[in-house]
Amino acid sequence: MDRSLCFTTGKIFLLFNFGYIGTAVGIGIGLYIILPRKKKPSGRRFAQLLVGIYMLLFLGIIKKENMQLEGFFFYLLTGLFSGSVIHYLVAKIAGPVLFGRGYCGWSCWTTMVLDYLPYKRNKLGRIAPKWEQMRYVHFALSLLLVLVLWFFLQYRPPPTGQDTLAWLGVGNMIYFASAITLAYMFKDNRAFCKYLCPITVILKVTSRFSLLKIAGEKEKCTQCGACNKNCPMDINIMEYVNHGKRVLSTECIFCLTCTTVCPEGILESTFRMDVGGMEHIQRK
Ligand code: SF4
Ligand code: SF4
Ligand code: SF4
Repeated sequence: MDRSLCFTTGKIFLLFNFGYIGTAVGIGIGLYIILPRKKKPSGRRFAQLLVGIYMLLFLGIIKKENMQLEGFFFYLLTGLFSGSVIHYLVAKIAGPVLFGRGYCGWSCWTTMVLDYLPYKRNKLGRIAPKWEQMRYVHFALSLLLVLVLWFFLQYRPPPTGQDTLAWLGVGNMIYFASAITLAYMFKDNRAFCKYLCPITVILKVTSRFSLLKIAGEKEKCTQCGACNKNCPMDINIMEYVNHGKRVLSTECIFCLTCTTVCPEGILESTFRMDVGGMEHIQRK
């Protein structure tokens, strides 16, 4: 077996990998806690940069693992428990049952770039609800591409090397180009997450069961609307608070923006059991 693949599956790698990611997120959370209110989002973005750069540059480019969705499908078909498979299992399949879409808020390498574009606050709400179906089409096309290559063309990608680097490079070029185009088109940094990202197809299922969700006390809410105006995912947070429910939307990326802008300080992270999926989204 290729030495570099051994590195990304061995015990030493697992210790290093989870040690690094845990430390990076820990630093981000620490910064988030100690920074003044307005600067708190920098803590989250710092963690996102540390984890995103590690996954894309180290695991992807240096170790030549295909971290894209197609890579995950290929590794599954090959039966290889690679770093990419571990990443999908922890961050996108099992992890969201604990921490929801925390990966999207704190670790994604696509949004580590998108979050620095000029449209942090989407002033128009979701202006293209039909476009939301595109993420399902994208997911289906990715799966279909892998299945056709595997079963009809007998393509067997090596687990690591130049082929995987090509998949990673082309995949990321398409993601970044479409994500930046959508951000400028809709004046919304997170437009790609809302309309085109295929990973959401998995995340929207697994994050329903998240123990970690945002909640606020109905009696203390002044209906000022600051949370709704600032939520990057256009979630109608007030609607949940008014109904005495936690934020059950599977669109929540746990960025904590709402908790920092609420003038009453009533929104907070809570940890208990309920099933999400009730979507209150702000439309134009
Ligand atoms: S929705 Fe996709 S692009 Fe957006 S943060 Fe999540 S994984 Fe990244
Ligand atoms: S509900 Fe709060 S934590 Fe969730 S995406 Fe909106 S602002 Fe971020
Ligand atoms: S920001 Fe706070 S007080 Fe204002 S509407 Fe939202 S939850 Fe209520």
